[in-house]
Amino acid sequence: MTPTEPASEPTIFERIIAREIPADILLENERLIAIRDIAPQAPVHLLVIPKTAQHRTVAELAAADPELLTELVATAQRLADEYADGDFRLVFNSGAGAGQTVFHVHAHVLAGSLAEGSLA
Ligand code: ADP
Repeated sequence: MTPTEPASEPTIFERIIAREIPADILLENERLIAIRDIAPQAPVHLLVIPKTAQHRTVAELAAADPELLTELVATAQRLADEYADGDFRLVFNSGAGAGQTVFHVHAHVLAGSLAEGSLA
């Protein structure tokens, strides 16, 4: 598969965006959706997900649509302001070897007292 080729099967995030499966949706616009992670690794663990399915990793997103990556980072800050005290960790797992399990780019927004070494 080339980096720009979409995944053949819809990922869990595309199914959430399509409302095929439920999620705790915190924010949504034309380009992004933010949900609570179903298996939180920190007191506040949110996901910010571009709606486009064609980018699997943050590097692919950065190369193809830097404005959307910038909007994603600003959204993470807004969520941290609203759901935590404004301080947060932003994690992108890129590739299976780094723990990525859903190959649709997404940012983990982690806040609160984080367990040592917790990187989602
Ligand atoms: P990892 O599973 O190692 O964290 P990713 O970086 O690909 O790998 O993150 C996928 C994230 O999606 C996980 O934190 C997982 O808990 C979360 N997740 C999976 N299914 C759902 C769901 N239905 N609703 C909310 N979050 C989900």
